[in-house]
Amino acid sequence: MKYLQSDDLFNYKRRVSSVVHVGGLSLGGDNPVRVQSMANTNTNDIEPSVEQAMRIVAAGGELVRFTAQGVREAESLKLIRRSLSDKGCDVPLVADIHFNPAAAEVAAQYVEKVRVNPGNFVDRVHTLQRFDYTDEEYQQELEKIKNRLLPLLRICREHHTALRIGVNHGSLSDRILSRYGDTPQGMVESCMEFLRVCRENDFNDVVISIKASNTVVMVQTVRLLAATMEKEGMRYPLHLGVTEAGDGEDGRVKSALGIGALLADGIGDTVRVSLSEAPECEIPVARKLVDYITKRAGHVKISAKDSGMVDPFRFARRNTFKVDRIGEGALPVVIMSSAVSSPVLEPDYCLENGRLGGGPLYEVSRLEDLRSDLSPLKFLQLSYPDYTEAVRNALDERTVIVLTTDHPNGVGEQRAFFHALLADGVRNPVVLKRSYEDSCLEDLQIKAAADLGVFFIDGLGDGLWIEAPNVPQSQLLSLSFGILQGSRVRVSKTEYISCPSCGRTLFDLQATIARIKEKTSHLKGLKIGIMGCIVNGPGEMADADYGYVGSAKGKVNLYKGQTCVEKLIPESEAVERLIDLIKRNGDWK
Ligand code: SF4
Repeated sequence: MKYLQSDDLFNYKRRVSSVVHVGGLSLGGDNPVRVQSMANTNTNDIEPSVEQAMRIVAAGGELVRFTAQGVREAESLKLIRRSLSDKGCDVPLVADIHFNPAAAEVAAQYVEKVRVNPGNFVDRVHTLQRFDYTDEEYQQELEKIKNRLLPLLRICREHHTALRIGVNHGSLSDRILSRYGDTPQGMVESCMEFLRVCRENDFNDVVISIKASNTVVMVQTVRLLAATMEKEGMRYPLHLGVTEAGDGEDGRVKSALGIGALLADGIGDTVRVSLSEAPECEIPVARKLVDYITKRAGHVKISAKDSGMVDPFRFARRNTFKVDRIGEGALPVVIMSSAVSSPVLEPDYCLENGRLGGGPLYEVSRLEDLRSDLSPLKFLQLSYPDYTEAVRNALDERTVIVLTTDHPNGVGEQRAFFHALLADGVRNPVVLKRSYEDSCLEDLQIKAAADLGVFFIDGLGDGLWIEAPNVPQSQLLSLSFGILQGSRVRVSKTEYISCPSCGRTLFDLQATIARIKEKTSHLKGLKIGIMGCIVNGPGEMADADYGYVGSAKGKVNLYKGQTCVEKLIPESEAVERLIDLIKRNGDWK
């Protein structure tokens, strides 16, 4: 199955999607990729909600989403809409609905778009207690969806309101889990069931999203969704996002990795970067990412052939042999241009006097020297246009390839190289190298994660080397390891899965994250979920080892894996109790 509309994996081209009107904003088709954020106020607090929406718009946000837990919160959207319009702000508003079709029907009368989650719009979210649906029962459940969705579609049509069908990994229904399990297929089917109802009823102002906090799952699932829609003749626009990405470097890197991998293939019509920070902080990050990738349109053509040997829907590491500590199943390495270390991170190789870890570094102009060098470890630096028969013949089993690029579409060109190697059966390990002049750390985080992450997500690449002379080397080291961790190929620090907060959040999320990080950042490899509410938190912290979840005002539930082990702890004690829980389970170091 193809996930791109063309056969061209190498040259940047936007996916052709239909145009959806969200108030005065057109999305999809040839329109620019739109950036958006989500407010974290309670909609019943009208003025704070309006002010936050205005801050998001001032930062460049083109859509603003609010969560509406119930009918009362949905009714409040009318006042927010009116107040914003009175202030001359016509930014389209989106109501985010979970569990409550009645709230969706109210909100659809006042806002420009309503988001529903197929995992909980009709079904209760999974109880993991039922796995025995007969075909007939399954069909009856589909009828239930239709009967519940049609009234909403009628209201949307009447009020010119668009719909987002937004699937989240971690909130699939028992019915979907019974047939497909917790898989990309399950998430895609959950979305397709709703889409088919929309199409049968000729309702086409629909935008789709499938999100996950696991970047590999997110990228593969959206690819599968694009492929499935194409097969069924649908071209609805796509909204992209990585959920629970966290804050600071982690949040930026994870988001740029997942969203960037898809945008680089021309997939995506609107983007939300979810950060556990003030909502307006998300907009500049989204803007930079979108601009960085879309400006490569019309680039110099890359001539290459799809080897057919990279599965876009399933992770498999490219088959290589090992040279020193690089390749053949070894953890991808980090190379630095100069010696640097931090208390917890150590690069694998540093460039010193033209050598990496003692191995000489050759350019293609010195192929003869490479050939005659009998060192057990040698590096050959080249780019895709350098890859000739002479180069291929010079590659022996002691050579690691360092792959550079200066093409405006570096992802396309470096991908072309991997396909050429695969087609030729060349098994030398490859370290991906990229160079940047940026001095702004955030710019570098976004660009490097978007450029490099996709290769690790696809199982290509045995290491990375980021050259950025205008950024402190210690920050570059952290970024390099962050990209490998965000791509889920090498764990070097504690992983935090934290929600971006919304109107349901029950505690000060940013302060809590900071407190938990301060105490636990030495627990390498441990995954800690920090979620604002129990409505969506437990499901969406996915594969966290421990969870800290708001359960009532001032109260917290603690989780070990997916099991709630302590309930309604006063917030003032909760961080210490989390640490005790980690200690009791032997995971404290
Ligand atoms: S976990 Fe709860 S509080 Fe956090 S963003 Fe999701 S719904 Fe909002």
